[in-house]
Amino acid sequence: MTHDLIELILTNRRWVTPRVLELTFGRADGQVFSYIPGQFMTLHLDGPDGEIRRSYSIASRDGAPDRIAIALTQVTGGRATEILTRLEPSDRVRATGPFGRFILREDTGMDYLLAATGTGVSPYRAMLGSLERRLDTSTCEIRLLLGVRNPEELLYGEDFLALAQRSPRFRFEACLSRTLSDPPAPHERKGYVQEILKKLPLDPARHIVYLCGNPDMIDTSLNHLKGLGFPLPSIRREKYLSSN
Ligand SMILES: Cc1cc2nc3c(=O)[nH]c(=O)nc-3n(C[C@H](O)[C@H](O)[C@H](O)COP(=O)(O)OP(=O)(O)OC[C@H]3O[C@@H](n4cnc5c(N)ncnc54)[C@H](O)[C@@H]3O)c2cc1C
Repeated sequence: MTHDLIELILTNRRWVTPRVLELTFGRADGQVFSYIPGQFMTLHLDGPDGEIRRSYSIASRDGAPDRIAIALTQVTGGRATEILTRLEPSDRVRATGPFGRFILREDTGMDYLLAATGTGVSPYRAMLGSLERRLDTSTCEIRLLLGVRNPEELLYGEDFLALAQRSPRFRFEACLSRTLSDPPAPHERKGYVQEILKKLPLDPARHIVYLCGNPDMIDTSLNHLKGLGFPLPSIRREKYLSSN
């Protein structure tokens, strides 16, 4: 981990859903990135009234350390959103990181529930390789709930569906708050993540829960899990809040 500023160069931009822009960066000094899947970077952006710092989870799949991707939700009126959305390939930004402890740990004998809203799924995408290795080398079960409004917003859904095809012990569910496909796809559920999570048979002796994204989803889920007797170390959280 480094707190030194590093310079990043945008190498690619693409809309991954109608409201999420994926930005891929390399390091200007040509070095590779050293991070643990699940961590985030902090970008230092030049705003009209001075520097703005905003954090973004690394969304790229592990195994290509010469570049990192972030998935940016379009926040209406958002200062960083506006600056980042205007970036073009070869533009530069300053960054610090990687930071964060929202990473996979050795939890022998436990199953996982991973829950996210929107771009909160980015850390799990970065963990895909690690999750698959864990499925291959243990008997654990992993269930991922991703909350978005409609099927078009299912960020990185194809990657999670592909893993579910390869591994019967990985389950992916899209929690759609507004509309389902017509007819609904087998992985689609109607409702908010926190409502669907409450209906799951979760057991503090068997499950580790990861929660990422919207602070309200995290607080509601946390209270529910504490009520079931989950100890805090079994409920790993990353809240997406603006810093200044
Ligand atoms: C550890 C960490 C990781 C993060 N990872 C990501 C990530 O991978 N992708 C990502 O898009 N964001 C992520 N965020 C959130 C990100 O840092 C910014 O907060 C977000 O981009 C909004 O910044 P902004 O300057 O555009 O909006 P601001 O100018 O800060 O906010 C403008 C207005 O929008 C509201 N607002 C802020 N965020 C949201 C939101 N998400 N939805 C609706 N309203 C909002 C604010 O309350 C304010 O009223 C992360 C935050 C943290 C702390």
